[in-house]
Amino acid sequence: MVRNMVLHQVCQLPQPFTAEQLTKVCQEERISVGTVYNSLNLFVLAHILHATSRQRGQAATEYELTTTNTIRMQVVCQNCGRVTEFHDVAIERLVTERKYSNFNVQHMSLFVYGECKICRRKIKKTTEA
Ligand SMILES: [Zn+2]
Repeated sequence: MVRNMVLHQVCQLPQPFTAEQLTKVCQEERISVGTVYNSLNLFVLAHILHATSRQRGQAATEYELTTTNTIRMQVVCQNCGRVTEFHDVAIERLVTERKYSNFNVQHMSLFVYGECKICRRKIKKTTEA
């Protein structure tokens, strides 16, 4: 019952949102902070929400309803965890126009891992010194 109330609040928020934003609106409905965080974890496990950490080591996780974005492409820095969204029309066309036998595509995620510009610059500096 409480989870339904949390989910209702999630649907009212602009996407993506942070746990802090959700906690704020839920507190007005007298939903505890613990319930909000438990619900968020549950919604992620159930693939209702998609969680993205914007920067490693900081409470900057953003959540988004999986229904709002069916095709997701992101570059992820393996060093600092920075995530940047990108959109490649050619990749999208490749996936959406391809026919999978006995399979109906609903979502697609593409993660490209590597090193971001800032980390590359930092690594370059430390090796030069
Ligand atoms: Zn980086």
